[in-house]
Amino acid sequence: MKMKIRTKLLLTFLVIAATPLGIAASLGYLNAVDMHRLATDANQGIAALVMSDSMKTLCQEEVLNLEYRVAHVADDIKHDLTWVQADCAELADFATYLYENKSTVGAYAYPSTYKRGPNNTYGNLEENSASWLMVSNLGTEPDGSIRPALMEEIRLTEFMDIKFKSIAATNPYAVQLYINTSSQITRGMPFLNGEYQWINAVEQFPADMDLKAFDFYYLADEAHNPERTPVWTELYWDPAGLGWMISCIAPVYEDDELKGVVGIDVTLDALVTDILNYQIEETGFVFLMSNHCQALAFPERAADLLGFEGDLAGDFGNNERFSFSLMEANDEAFQRIIAKMQNGEYGVETYTKGGKEHYFVFAPVKLAGWSVGIVVPVHEITAPAIVTNAKIEANMMAASEDIDESSSKLIEMYLLIVGAIVVCIIPSSLIISGRISGPIKMLDIGSRKIGGGDLSHRIRIESGDEIEDLANAFNTMADDLEYKIGEIEAANEDLKELDKLKSQFISMASHELRTPLIAIQGYTDLIKEGSAGEINAEQERMLNTVSRHTARLERIVAELLDLSRIEENKLALNKQPFSIKQVIEEIAIEQQPTLDKRRHVLSLNIQDAIPPIIGDRDRISQVIINLLGNAIKYTPDGGYIRITAEMEERGIHLCVIDNGIGIKAEHIDKIFNRFYEVGDVTKHSTGKDAFMGGGTGLGLSIVDGIVRAHSGRIWVESEYGKGSVFHVLLPISPPEMMPQPEEPESLKYAELERAKQERTMPESNGGMKILFIDDDDNSIEIAHRMLAERYEVTEAKTSSLGLKKAIALNPDLILLSALMPGISGYDVCRILKGNINTKQIPVILSVASATAQAGDEQRAYTSGADGHITKPFREDDLMGLIESFGVIRSGRDR
Ligand code: ADP
Repeated sequence: MKMKIRTKLLLTFLVIAATPLGIAASLGYLNAVDMHRLATDANQGIAALVMSDSMKTLCQEEVLNLEYRVAHVADDIKHDLTWVQADCAELADFATYLYENKSTVGAYAYPSTYKRGPNNTYGNLEENSASWLMVSNLGTEPDGSIRPALMEEIRLTEFMDIKFKSIAATNPYAVQLYINTSSQITRGMPFLNGEYQWINAVEQFPADMDLKAFDFYYLADEAHNPERTPVWTELYWDPAGLGWMISCIAPVYEDDELKGVVGIDVTLDALVTDILNYQIEETGFVFLMSNHCQALAFPERAADLLGFEGDLAGDFGNNERFSFSLMEANDEAFQRIIAKMQNGEYGVETYTKGGKEHYFVFAPVKLAGWSVGIVVPVHEITAPAIVTNAKIEANMMAASEDIDESSSKLIEMYLLIVGAIVVCIIPSSLIISGRISGPIKMLDIGSRKIGGGDLSHRIRIESGDEIEDLANAFNTMADDLEYKIGEIEAANEDLKELDKLKSQFISMASHELRTPLIAIQGYTDLIKEGSAGEINAEQERMLNTVSRHTARLERIVAELLDLSRIEENKLALNKQPFSIKQVIEEIAIEQQPTLDKRRHVLSLNIQDAIPPIIGDRDRISQVIINLLGNAIKYTPDGGYIRITAEMEERGIHLCVIDNGIGIKAEHIDKIFNRFYEVGDVTKHSTGKDAFMGGGTGLGLSIVDGIVRAHSGRIWVESEYGKGSVFHVLLPISPPEMMPQPEEPESLKYAELERAKQERTMPESNGGMKILFIDDDDNSIEIAHRMLAERYEVTEAKTSSLGLKKAIALNPDLILLSALMPGISGYDVCRILKGNINTKQIPVILSVASATAQAGDEQRAYTSGADGHITKPFREDDLMGLIESFGVIRSGRDR
């Protein structure tokens, strides 16, 4: 594909500019895409990390928080209990002091009045500001009287009021403070909402109440409390009606003798208000469990999870056993957790109930052997994390959108920049390439013009660079060329003129040589025949030499005439269909003597089905004869020659093949030039002459001319020293293009042929009149000598005279020269054949061999002639022809 310089330059600029741009663009694009990917990954990665971390951290934090809260609740309870416990210890210390110092403490300043109560009980039955006192009938005498020692003890315990009141004033949890003695004295003070409350213990407590049988007594005795520290009771229903409570109790010893137990009661309500009010997330709750696994406190919403059965409306009635034990509730997993709580452990467990997972966080209240638990559904703990995660996710989505938008903008901007650069590059590339290619284009146009023959054209380029130098060099070259071509043209004209003169000379010389040659040949033949008297053997030998050289000269003249006809495009072709096979076979027969002389073997290889050629039979024969002649000539004796002919797509392909001397490569192209002879040829073994001895260098150029005139082609393949192959390709016309031979002429020809074959030589033709019409004196004389003996010969030297004599004499045969000055022989023939009186007279047209052309014979028959012969006449030929008309004449006569 051809591409203009401008296009190339444009492409080069674009490639140079676009390649780095393309690389930069693709790098930038890839980077942008990569950055986008990285940013997106980072954004999502961080978000995922943060979300999972936030979930984990928040959960951990929440669980820690739960642990903290449960510990805090436990601590609060413990703190309250510790306070109560400390006050209890102080109360015990005070009582111990009283017992140990009873002899010195004297009488209490605000003594109460006591009376005997029902069922042998004893106590203060009237409301006052002192503590209650009641001695059960187990401590009094059977008649209800009081022993002095007991009375003393009653009085001693009156001092307890001081401590009761002072503790109650500072400790809000102390709802009841008391002392129970081994002598069945019970003394105490209840406080409701911090206000001292007097009760009639004699009425309220059972008369046979055995104080030592109650856990708030025996739990502090030697057996249960050898350390003598304050201890806590189980939950119990207050006999004084203050509800569910526990007591902190401490023993009072007088010299290792347990005198009694002091205690402070704490109502459950006061301790657990906080527990019930705790709000853990949505539905989470706090509960308190005793060391016997009783649920001490839980909000109503916890009932289900803890497996509580019963009426929450406060069915733990007076003195009823607190029946709800967590030890019996729920499943094994629940029980395992409860066991850990009972063990006083801290812990965080998960517990699933009803398909819902819960955190179960617990901490002990060591002092009382209790445990506080927090239960909360896991999803409520993770809910904030989920909310946070949702926020993070939303944030991440927003960030992703931002990243997408930013990277699209980046890519867009990048593409815009690249586009803008490309848009700028294209016009500048166009301008630059135009600037560079413009002068080159001018140079191209200019050089084409000069090359096309416009030598006066000059290239005007002022680019100031090498192209301008080149244009100037071109102009200088054009100047030189113009001058040289002028010279060459002039020389060529001279040469043409010379060539024309030479051709004219050859043509003229050949024509001029032809007539004397005919005469020489004719007279030589006559002398040889003895027409001019007897000749001796020496004379005959000389005459033979003359005859041979004349024949050679005739051949050269004929060749020169052919050549000038070819050069002047005047080679007349008598085209008609003929069989090439037949032609070759005839030539092979004709040439057999020559072949034999040289001991050559000729083989023919001609395709059987080869179609007829339309062409000039004689001229094509001439071609084959010439090529075969050369093969014979340029092949050392005893060679092999082959002629092949076959039908090809392009036409009929003839080959003349020899194993002769061959042609050197440098001569191959030249041998078809006229007068070209290859000098360097060796002699054949038998001949005396060098190969070139008899050559003219014209043969192949005539052959080439004839083949070209048939629109054919000739070429040669040869290997020096090995042989040559001459190829001839002749086109054939399709059958429908073949001219149909004209019936009458072919009939005439056939008739003539038949007549020739059937002719019988009559003994004598005496009296046969022959009119000889010819302008050439020599021909007239020769013919006269040949014919006068046997026929009556009349001559006419001009056409008109010939016509007159023909009519006047009514000859038996007219021998008419075709080339007559004035009216041509053909026209004379036409006139004769058109005349009623002369049309029956046989006419033989004669053509000089030197001027003979293909088609002469045909022209002769076309003009109405009955026979055709070439000059110089061969006596045998002439006589044979005339005799054949003798038969016709006989027929005519008859
Ligand atoms: P000539 O009359 O000299 O043979 P041609 O034109 O026929 O002239 O041939 C030109 C030259 O070509 C011859 O001089 C000869 O050297 C060469 N030539 C032609 N035919 C053959 C051949 N068959 N083998 C070798 N050389 C050949």
